[in-house]
Amino acid sequence: SSVLKKSTSYSLKERKKYTSKALSLSYKRPIEMTQSALQYMYDAQGNTFLDAYNNIMIVGHCHPKVVVAGQQTMATLNTNTRYLYSQLNSYSEKLLGKFPKVFTKIFFVNSGSAATDLATRLALVHTKKRKIAVIEHGYHGNTRNGIDISHYKYANKGGAGQKDHIIQVRLPDTFNGKYTGNTQKTGKKYAEDAIKLLSKSKGEIAAFIAEPIVGCGGQIPLAKGYLKKMYLEIRKQGGLCISDEVQVGFGRLGNHFWGFEMHDVVPDIVVLGKPIGNGHPLAAVVTTNKIAKSFENGMEFFSSFGGNPVSCAIGEAVLDVIEAEKLQQHAKKVGNHLKRKLKALKKEVPEIGDVRGSGLFLGIDLITKKKKPNTKLASIIKNELRNRHILVSTDGPYDNVIKIKPPLYFNKENADILVTNIADILSKFTPNKS
Ligand code: PMP
Repeated sequence: SSVLKKSTSYSLKERKKYTSKALSLSYKRPIEMTQSALQYMYDAQGNTFLDAYNNIMIVGHCHPKVVVAGQQTMATLNTNTRYLYSQLNSYSEKLLGKFPKVFTKIFFVNSGSAATDLATRLALVHTKKRKIAVIEHGYHGNTRNGIDISHYKYANKGGAGQKDHIIQVRLPDTFNGKYTGNTQKTGKKYAEDAIKLLSKSKGEIAAFIAEPIVGCGGQIPLAKGYLKKMYLEIRKQGGLCISDEVQVGFGRLGNHFWGFEMHDVVPDIVVLGKPIGNGHPLAAVVTTNKIAKSFENGMEFFSSFGGNPVSCAIGEAVLDVIEAEKLQQHAKKVGNHLKRKLKALKKEVPEIGDVRGSGLFLGIDLITKKKKPNTKLASIIKNELRNRHILVSTDGPYDNVIKIKPPLYFNKENADILVTNIADILSKFTPNKS
């Protein structure tokens, strides 16, 4: 194994030669992965890791049905949307079947960033307006427009700040925010504040983009009732509502297939990514007839790879597996179990400030004795879990939130192992825990 260890440090040295420091690596001692299957990953030393945070591999790493769909199609036909092929129609029908009936059109692209970029273009063209309303700590992509609409990027290190066509509203966070307590009243107050701000740009807002649970912001579910009130106002002002489902979509939330359903709203444009292709570079924008029509203004829309037969076959296999294996119901059952156990742990450990989220999209907010964000403890938990071969990540503006969003094969036993280890780490690293 010392030979293998050497190979990992060699990999790291080689990588540093070829890649920019702007690309980050997880952990001070990075892990060299060689294989993965369902909710597990295997490193170059032969260790097995329990993956508790890769939301992209929604139906499990290397799920055989998805792999075979990709292999068979790749060996049969790969081309672009300028030809007819059955995979596009078949997959589109199936994917649209997951949406309310107003959604009739799909554009396929290859990343969540390309999808939010296109969603923004659709909104600008349809409304002929120019301003975009965004939520604090939101993340929507790595393109120029993606950065412009992502407070998480433009307001942080290396960011150029808020552009003048961006309206930035407060994150309706019922734990850390200005108004606390998750009732309709709280959501209403956040929306009222935002509406005051929006009214300064009356008639100029093309779109409002929001994640139903703000991932990079620290797994923050938008306050109850907030989105409903915001959607009403945005539409009153002639703008469109975009739901970024890149992190939360495809059944992970347990109770709902899409995040917008959790807020009892219907957006005008939906952005899909990450889990849609279980790791294959596929993403999509779903919208209404009317909005798609406005985009038919003479300019062709073409994506070299977007919606090719291989991608469509993979996307369809992902949907089939979610349905056939009842993964949404599984996410609900295991997610509820996990959340219950984490909430029980919270009662014993003052450093756990909040346990939030839905299904298998959860966050543990760590705080200090003075109820400030506990960045250090979050980092300790993440690194100690890694030493015990469990993968999670941290996020939020203070990096003090443990993110749990595993492949949906994650089971109750995996959940128990995760909680037992977090409890054990907390007992060793927090002062007052016996
Ligand atoms: N939107 C959200 C909510 C995301 O989390 C991400 C990726 N983290 C994106 C958009 C961009 O997706 P991609 O990395 O596929 O470009």
